[in-house]
Formats: sequence, structure tokens, C-alpha cells
Amino acid sequence: MTIKYHTLGCRVNAVETDRLKRDLAALGFNEVSAPEEAEVIVINTCSVTKQSDRKSAQLIRSSLRQQAKVIAMGCYVPEELFEEVLFIPNEDKHRAPQLISDHIGQLDETGSLLTQAERTRSFIKVQDGCNNFCSYCIIPYLRGRERSMSQTEILSEVDRALAGGHREVVLSGIHLSGYGRDTNTSLIELIEAIGQKDGIDRIRLGSLEQAIITPDFLDRLNRVDAFCPHFHLSLQSGSDAVLKRMNRHYTTPEFLDKMEMIREAFPEVAITTDIIVGFSGETEEEFQESIDFVKQARFSKVHVFPFSKREGTRAALLSDLPGNIKKERGRIMRELTEQIQAEILEEWIGREVEVLTEDSYGYTRHYLPVYYEQALEPNQLVRLKITGRKELSLYGLPIL
Ligand code: SF4
Repeated sequence: MTIKYHTLGCRVNAVETDRLKRDLAALGFNEVSAPEEAEVIVINTCSVTKQSDRKSAQLIRSSLRQQAKVIAMGCYVPEELFEEVLFIPNEDKHRAPQLISDHIGQLDETGSLLTQAERTRSFIKVQDGCNNFCSYCIIPYLRGRERSMSQTEILSEVDRALAGGHREVVLSGIHLSGYGRDTNTSLIELIEAIGQKDGIDRIRLGSLEQAIITPDFLDRLNRVDAFCPHFHLSLQSGSDAVLKRMNRHYTTPEFLDKMEMIREAFPEVAITTDIIVGFSGETEEEFQESIDFVKQARFSKVHVFPFSKREGTRAALLSDLPGNIKKERGRIMRELTEQIQAEILEEWIGREVEVLTEDSYGYTRHYLPVYYEQALEPNQLVRLKITGRKELSLYGLPIL
């Protein structure tokens, strides 16, 4: 039986789709890339913004036009009636292979196992859910309370990734910093355990909250050789008043202190972040505070999101700014953050870096993209000398 997968949204969804692929392959489903060739189409949906809802609905509608059975899972809850679609709610995702095969009926017993695409990095989901209830975010309502995977389960996933030739593992979760709170362990203990594995070259972390940054956390990270010095610390706004309305429990001076702590512990670190502009009621002054904060903090990269109201959240009850203001603030913030990003990239020119090769490019331990003109075998750790920058990427030559 042929099957096509679509994944929208976050890395957690990507990891879940990968796991589903593996399970369904074992049940005889063959993955195809063209929807027209698929007898079954699975859509792992996202609902983080209104646009995500729209995209999820569009994908369901276009899939229904194919001669295929359509299955939707993930965070999107449809407003319209899709009678022909099997919806698998988040709480039943762990049973998705069973529910899908039951829904499809008799499997084709001649179906063969999928071969895993060759990749260098393996994303490993270590937790789900969030207890934070930021006022703009629907995720805690959709994904529920924080739940950590067991360390044994995660270490087996790491073993599988290493046996499959992956050299880097990326630990991901909806609220990664909360890992282990419900199981009496912690993220740092997990990282230390993974760091003990033979053959692990790189451990990278997904998005973190500033509260996890303590001298002890940094000190212990520093002793894990495979740890990649790249921290994605979620900021969201550089205005204290906006942070308060967002129900984010820190102030900008506290956030800056954490950045300084990181830079002291890892002098060559990359700190990246997310910023929402045009949040409910954000005044010109508050937006300017965010701009000033970004200039001071000098992030290596910023994902800028114009605020998009999400029904069912507390922020949806607040007044919304006109779309043109949000768009303009997004443009201003993006231009500034890209200019800072380019300046930081320039500082790397002439230096030597270790790159994990993918296709025509690879990433440094700090997650800086480096292109190379000479063909290099993928999935190798190669030392390159940085020769230049083009837009927001670096170029380098192998050191022979
Ligand atoms: S920390 Fe805030 S933004 Fe992140 S998932 Fe939890 S509620 Fe949403």
C-alpha cells in the first residue's frame, strides 16, 4: 500500500512523522513522494497560528481531491466538516499506526520496508506538552501538560540514530527546558548520559527557556564534549510590559544576564531567538524597546513573527493591531536582525571551523551554514577555512 506524508509546523511534528513512517513501513506501507501515487495520505497538521490552520485545511482539501484515504493528525481542529477524513487527536497519536491500519483495513502483504533517507542529523523528541500558558499560545491547550519520555527510551533512540550513521542528535520538545520535571530527572542529566555514548559527535538542543540557564547547567554542559555551543533562547519581546502581557515570567535585564552567563561559559557561542512583533496593544515605545534590546543583545539569528491572534488564547481577548502595522514592524525588525546576523558572520571570515557536511553545505557546531565549492562526501566532519560571506551564509575551503 502506498502512502504520502505531509508534515506542517514544529520539529516535534517532524519527529512524530518520522516515527510513524518507521512503524507503518514495518506494517507494509511504501512511502511515495507524489500525492497522485498515494493510496493513503497522512497530514500531520499544525495550529500554532491562523495561517497554520488555513494551511492544514487547504492540505486536507487538496488531498481529498486525490483518489486516496486521508488521515489528519496533530494540533489542527477543523471548523468545517471533513466526513471522509480520519482525525487522530493528539492524545491518540501514540496509537496512530494501529488506528491507521485499522481504518485502511487489509494491508498489502507484499509491501516492502522503507529505506531510511540518509541524513546527518537525527531529531529526537524527548518531551511533549507545556505547563507555561503564554497568553498568545494555544499549544498547552492542544498538547496538554508536560510529559517527558523515559531516559531509557531516548537512549535507545540515540543508539538507533548512531547505528543508522547519524553523527548529530538534536533534542527537541514542545518545552524542552521542562524535560524531566515530571520524572524526577533533568535535561542536563539526559545530555550527560547521551554524551557518554560511543560514537556521538554532536548533541544539539532545540529551543530553551532562559530559566534553565544557571552556572551549574552551563558548567556541566561545558564538560560534555559533543555539546554544540548553540543556544536557541526564546525571547519573544524586548519590552518588559509586553513580556508581562504575554505571561512570560522574566524581565529583559534577567534575560540579558543569562546571555552574558552563556557568553562567559562559551566564548564562541551562537545565541539565536524568536521575537513576536505587533503583539496585542504593543505601542510604538514598546516596539522601540524591542529594537533597542535586539541591538544590545546581538543575536546570531532571529526568527521574527508578526503577531497572529489565536482563538482560544487569552491574548485573543485583547485588542489586535492593524495588519499593516504588524507587517511594517516585522520588516523593520527583520532588517535589523539580518544586519546584525551578517555582521556576526563577517567575524568568522579567516577562521577555521568544523563542519558536518550535508549536500553543498554543512553546519558548524554553532549552527552557522557554510557552503563549499569543492564536492565533499556527505556526513563527514571536515575542517574548513572561512573565505567569505554571501548574504546570510558563509563560504569555506577544506583545510588539507
Ligand atoms: S513556553 Fe509558551 S510559547 Fe512555548 S509552548 Fe509553552 S505556552 Fe507555548
